[in-house]
Amino acid sequence: MREAVEQLLLPAECLLCRALLSFRDSARLVCDVCRHRWRPVRAPWCPRCGQPEPLFGRCRLCAEWPAAFERARSAVWLEGGARDAVHVLKYGGLPRIATDLAAAMVGLDVPGLDSGLLVPVPLGRARLRNRGYNQSERLARALGRRWGRPVVDLLLRTRDTAAQTALTPEARLANVAGAFKVRNGECGVRNERSPADSPLGATLAEAARALDQAGARTVSAVTFGRAVVPDFT
Ligand SMILES: [Zn+2]
Ligand SMILES: [Zn+2]
Repeated sequence: MREAVEQLLLPAECLLCRALLSFRDSARLVCDVCRHRWRPVRAPWCPRCGQPEPLFGRCRLCAEWPAAFERARSAVWLEGGARDAVHVLKYGGLPRIATDLAAAMVGLDVPGLDSGLLVPVPLGRARLRNRGYNQSERLARALGRRWGRPVVDLLLRTRDTAAQTALTPEARLANVAGAFKVRNGECGVRNERSPADSPLGATLAEAARALDQAGARTVSAVTFGRAVVPDFT
């Protein structure tokens, strides 16, 4: 209902470039041209974390990840219009753009697409109150519809954490250490998958650790955008 009203009230123009959207695309917020400008993250990459770096020996970006954190993949590089789109999802008050972001993520190759669950990374209470929604949950629901997989709100924040972006890599780990726990302490299903938007790094590893400790067999992460300067920690 709210989406229908929003569609009536908003002009059918691309949120990023203001071009008029075709009737076919009127449920979207981003036009074809802008979507095609998003630069996909492509192989060759580290098979585990999906970071396309020239690798000498073992990948250092994912070396500290908990063992059950099996794979991470991102759809596009977080730059230009892709970064603007994420900004709209997080701060623009238009969570409907999750549909556009999820469309770019549909082809991501992670295990469990026929059996896994999607688990959003929860927001801290203060941020949830300010924003009115959890962007990770909106993205998971949009992607879950495309993948035909259920979204289960398994994770809880045990405490609010400071914004990660202002912190050094070492401080990021300390900032989110123990920040998540699994509802009822048990996953119940031995086959969990965890999606998230961004940033990729300490937050996802900590969420994976909580799912791991609760008995998930493996955890994979999918994000829409990946920072051009990696912020894995
Ligand atoms: Zn556009
Ligand atoms: Zn790696």
